[in-house]
Amino acid sequence: MKNLYLPIMAKVTRIEELSADIKLFRFQRLKGSFPKNRDRLTFTAGQFMMAGIWGYGEAPFAILSSPSEDRFMEILVTRVGTVTDVLHKLRVGAELAIRGPYGNGFPVGFFEGKDIVMASGGCGIPPIAALVEHIVCNRDRFGRVYLLYGATTPRDILLKDRLDTWGSHIHILLNVLHPTPEWKGHVGIMTAMIKDIEINPLNSVAAMCGPGPMMKALERIIRPLGIADRRIYVSLERKMQCGIGKCQHCTKGDTYACLDGPVYNFDEIDKTWD
Ligand SMILES: Cc1cc2nc3c(=O)[nH]c(=O)nc-3n(C[C@H](O)[C@H](O)[C@H](O)COP(=O)(O)OP(=O)(O)OC[C@H]3O[C@@H](n4cnc5c(N)ncnc54)[C@H](O)[C@@H]3O)c2cc1C
Repeated sequence: MKNLYLPIMAKVTRIEELSADIKLFRFQRLKGSFPKNRDRLTFTAGQFMMAGIWGYGEAPFAILSSPSEDRFMEILVTRVGTVTDVLHKLRVGAELAIRGPYGNGFPVGFFEGKDIVMASGGCGIPPIAALVEHIVCNRDRFGRVYLLYGATTPRDILLKDRLDTWGSHIHILLNVLHPTPEWKGHVGIMTAMIKDIEINPLNSVAAMCGPGPMMKALERIIRPLGIADRRIYVSLERKMQCGIGKCQHCTKGDTYACLDGPVYNFDEIDKTWD
């Protein structure tokens, strides 16, 4: 019988320290590349991997690299507890146990031909980053595309190099609460960004991911744009153990966030942003 919990081994090939508590890890399979599916994708933007170290445990992480990339995958790890602490101690060349990809991901086929507003805050950027990478790789399949990204200070804006690259393909609107003198983006209440967004609300979709208070703020931007709730997709983080629908830690109503999520329709969730 196949053991569903058996990981494959990967080697860490690059580590970027994005802040005191956030690191980006790039890893590749010890043997071979990551398999592509019939759509020539290694995963769907919004899916996650289980990653960990033998003897310490594993945790779910959204994949942030391009779904078209089969040589490596990338995750962003915020240090909060046991597994993430051990991951933060890894050096390039270390081995990582990974399983996945799991979860549903964003319905990127449905997004084609439509205007797209993506919104994220702080360390909620990984699943949105993968979606941006997919859109940028297939730019002619999508309409007007906006990325709204907010953080407390300019230093808390992650993936700055990639934002520069993406900025030549899509509109990027940045917002911080506490600016530095050289800051050129929006400041304060994120709703002010609305005036810079031009979409056809009847042919638009939105994708969001971020911490609770940020989601509340994003809700006040996305809904006034006139995008119907059923066309707003939210990636939720639930406490999760197995990633494959066995442990029941991530139940959300009568669904499992690991199988039926982590991406939900806005009209399917309670919006308490816990
Ligand atoms: C689908 C999905 C995608 C994720 N993507 C990322 C990612 O890209 N980068 C990243 O750094 N983290 C991500 N997480 C969160 C990460 O998996 C958890 O923080 C994980 O518990 C860390 O393991 P740990 O052993 O270091 O911390 P633990 O020792 O498990 O927990 C540390 C603290 O965080 C709390 N906690 C754990 N998980 C959650 C949760 N989901 N929601 C609220 N509180 C929680 C615990 O109660 C505890 O207080 C994701 C989670 C899910 C479900």
